[in-house]
Amino acid sequence: MVSLSSNYLGRLAPSPTGYLHLGHARTFWIAAERVRATNGALLLRNDDLDAIRFRLDFVAAMLEDLRWLGFTWREPVITQSSRLARYRAALEKLHAARLIFPCTRTRRDVLDAIGAPHEGGADDEPVYPPQFRPPTDAPLPPLGEKISINWRLRVPDGEELGFHDGRCGLQRATAGRDFGDFLVWRKDDMPSYQLACAVDDAELGITEVVRGADLIKSTFRQLLLIRALGHAAPAYYHAPLMLDDRGERLAKRHDSLSLRALRAQGMTPTQIADQFRSQEATNS
Ligand code: GLU
Repeated sequence: MVSLSSNYLGRLAPSPTGYLHLGHARTFWIAAERVRATNGALLLRNDDLDAIRFRLDFVAAMLEDLRWLGFTWREPVITQSSRLARYRAALEKLHAARLIFPCTRTRRDVLDAIGAPHEGGADDEPVYPPQFRPPTDAPLPPLGEKISINWRLRVPDGEELGFHDGRCGLQRATAGRDFGDFLVWRKDDMPSYQLACAVDDAELGITEVVRGADLIKSTFRQLLLIRALGHAAPAYYHAPLMLDDRGERLAKRHDSLSLRALRAQGMTPTQIADQFRSQEATNS
């Protein structure tokens, strides 16, 4: 039988801010399985916009670990730092539509205003206090060539949003209640993760975004951006997060579960994939 390639286009989007661990590998393995099942194609996106935690050696390690696991992707690798003009164009569109506003409040201001503790716990951005917003009819300052202030998207308060997740089913959130006005551009003149990701997924024609369930709330933000920019939204599939033996989510600090540590201990890509396969079989 001749197998025809489909229109499915997925992506792996690691951030080079640490070594990849088993949790990343499992999400990426699920993403690759979705591609295989549909005979689609896969892009690799290097999410390298975090100037503080970025390290070039993490990019090399990321590519090496992914190749070691047997992943293949359609070249070239998409590097976010080389797409800044696209993100800036999107920002200008949001500015022209008056959907964003400049914000000089610090994280501390926001936490104080909502009476939240300053440290730890929160998995997600706090809801931006509406009293910090400028009125909708306030004059909007120009963006300027070099941006040195944070810009946020004004979310449509009270709008009920929903999407059907390929793994988790129907997801719902209310704008302004479950999440608030969020950052689209940072005062270090870089796009936020939300903006860059929304622009890339839409403009690169990704048909399904497969990623960890910790990003479900971000999906609502990205859907708002994609809609505001006039693009069609991809489908979403959020994979369950992998937990350690204490029930905590794996993080880059779990060095013993980094793929390099596992490789050094003699674990093979086949053993890793077999483990994922049997976990998926148990879950389904
Ligand atoms: N680079 C992001 C991360 O590692 C993933 C973003 C995404 O898949 O949308 O958390």
